[in-house]
Amino acid sequence: MTDRLLLDTSSLMYRAYFALPASISDPAGHPVNAVHGYLDMTARLIAEHQPDEVIHVYDHDWRPAPRVAAYGGYKVDRPPDPESLPPQFELLREVLDAFGLLQAEAPGWEADDAIGALCARAGKDDCVAIVTGDRDLLQLVRDPEIRVLFTLRGVSELGVFDEATVEAKHGVPPSRYAEYAILRGDASDGLPGVKGVGEKTARSLVAAYPNLDTMLDDARTDVPTHPVLGRSTRLSASLREASSYLVAMRDVVPIRSDVEVRVWSGERDDERLDDLAERRRIKGPVRRLHDALGA
Ligand code: MN
Ligand code: MN
Repeated sequence: MTDRLLLDTSSLMYRAYFALPASISDPAGHPVNAVHGYLDMTARLIAEHQPDEVIHVYDHDWRPAPRVAAYGGYKVDRPPDPESLPPQFELLREVLDAFGLLQAEAPGWEADDAIGALCARAGKDDCVAIVTGDRDLLQLVRDPEIRVLFTLRGVSELGVFDEATVEAKHGVPPSRYAEYAILRGDASDGLPGVKGVGEKTARSLVAAYPNLDTMLDDARTDVPTHPVLGRSTRLSASLREASSYLVAMRDVVPIRSDVEVRVWSGERDDERLDDLAERRRIKGPVRRLHDALGA
């Protein structure tokens, strides 16, 4: 039984946008495909999990200044959002407001961090499911109270990740996923990783050392003590060359759990909801969410 659903709204709207055709539009021709997909997904999740609470969480800043200060390349080459996506966030906020639903963001930070901070508040008796298409969030998985429902295809197929599933899929436990991601890199976030280190080597390094500092210390010795580095002087050299990158990444990759989160909800307004549904041609999704919430 899930008590609380934390929806990574920014990530899911993006997925929904590309999963559904832009021909789904309002009478004026403005695409509403992402809003359609997002509301329908929310309705399905609510019907399936019957949560006590659902929070829709936004990126307040998708490229936070502290991360950019630590590493200038962070998300620097990411292409801008397609033109018809930002207006759909405006519409979604209006709809969620009119439904009176909970929304949240961490000023100056990503949805990742807002969700991290909300998870930090979760106690042993809580049951939290994070819904996202952003694999960074796998860092937050913690048995038994925090799971990730990850989008596998579009926004309709979700995979459930607990500690065992993260370990089975990525070869590292969630508590060490950030270190693994640092070593491997993440092209979509502009993070190159360590030269010559792919997923397999990243996994074995994480398994071999208790933390990245110990690993770097070993790489700096003439004869590294651990077999992973001992076998390859080239790998030791790569790690030494990457040492400033590795240090910078500590302030980039780990999700923050100490940021301030603003949570709000609008006043439920059925008249406004009907008007939006009619004008923006989202009657079906609005009705389905309405029904799911009422059940
Ligand atoms: Mn994100
Ligand atoms: Mn992320």
